[in-house]
Amino acid sequence: MPSCVPGEIPVCIVISVADDLPKIAIWDPDEVSILVARGAAVGEFLREVEAILTIDLGAPAASDDRFVCFCGTRVELPGELASLVAVTACESV
Ligand SMILES: [Zn+2]
Repeated sequence: MPSCVPGEIPVCIVISVADDLPKIAIWDPDEVSILVARGAAVGEFLREVEAILTIDLGAPAASDDRFVCFCGTRVELPGELASLVAVTACESV
């Protein structure tokens, strides 16, 4: 499953937003991406994505709501989700 391994084709995990998902977040091995349901609550999808990364994919645990690929590269949230997280962070201060 993990494909960004030395000697292999480097493909890092991507997070993207999708409609009509059966869950808040799911791992799509074909696209090497974690799909997050559009409209999901921030706290819930952050927890789900982190669980997929660390439990299912064996990536190192991240902190500060940041996600890390199994190779150690930072996984960026798509703009749509990043702005949601930013808004929530501001509100909770
Ligand atoms: Zn990677």
